[in-house]
Amino acid sequence: MENLPITDNHIHVDPVNGEGPVEVARKFHRAGGTVMIIPNKPTWTLNEKCTFQEAMEQVIKYVEEINNNTEVKAYAVVGAHPAELSRLVREGTELEKAEELMREALKGAQKLVLEGEALAIGEIGRPHYEISPEEMEIHHRLMIYAMELAREADCAVQLHTESSGEEQFREFAEMASKTGIKKQRVIKHFSGPYVLEEENHGITASLIATKKVITAGLKKGTNFLMETDYLDMKSRPGAVLGPKTVPRRTRGLLQNRILSEEDVHKIHVDNVERVYGVKLDL
Ligand SMILES: [Zn+2]
Repeated sequence: MENLPITDNHIHVDPVNGEGPVEVARKFHRAGGTVMIIPNKPTWTLNEKCTFQEAMEQVIKYVEEINNNTEVKAYAVVGAHPAELSRLVREGTELEKAEELMREALKGAQKLVLEGEALAIGEIGRPHYEISPEEMEIHHRLMIYAMELAREADCAVQLHTESSGEEQFREFAEMASKTGIKKQRVIKHFSGPYVLEEENHGITASLIATKKVITAGLKKGTNFLMETDYLDMKSRPGAVLGPKTVPRRTRGLLQNRILSEEDVHKIHVDNVERVYGVKLDL
């Protein structure tokens, strides 16, 4: 039980607005966590708005700090959040120019993956709020583009989208087919319990680690990842689950025999290695 590997597939760190990489990783580790997969925060998170490239380099630096100073193994996921496009448009950037900037950012993300600095591309996708049909078209082109880049780099891609069910998963799977990326390499972040192939159409679901969602997921199998989407923002402490949630949830379910040690290994190691094409040295 002591050496259980436990992975949070989507957790943020933010030294400007929150406790920062080392503190969050130490909390995670004290609760029993071993691997953190960390997408970069948006360009407006730092005190001064930074470029896409700087936001991505920032998270790579945080990951190094964690790997150098804690027992946790951290990986960076780099990309341009769909809210970045909305923000550019809202601030008056023409649609065409905004799309070009987003494409450049994604290309930069692919480069960081190819250089071995980041594990995957993300979070990318489409907003969970209302936008114009013109803007939505751009988000869709960018999703396809990100999947193409990921296929070329042979890496995974993390999707941020509106809350999604079987119908949306089918749509993501169709996009994946179009680009040739392996469907399991496409990860729906902040997912409900869409664990069965007939529900997720081959897309990997990263389940939000509430008791309700994880318990419902486990009734259908273990083909999923777990995450908190922790934001590390002092102003929004209760916005999402805390950094200790994935290890605590996992250990709790193990104690109650809802999970076996093999299940834990499957979810926190095998699935992670298969989806990302990485070998976790634990
Ligand atoms: Zn996120």
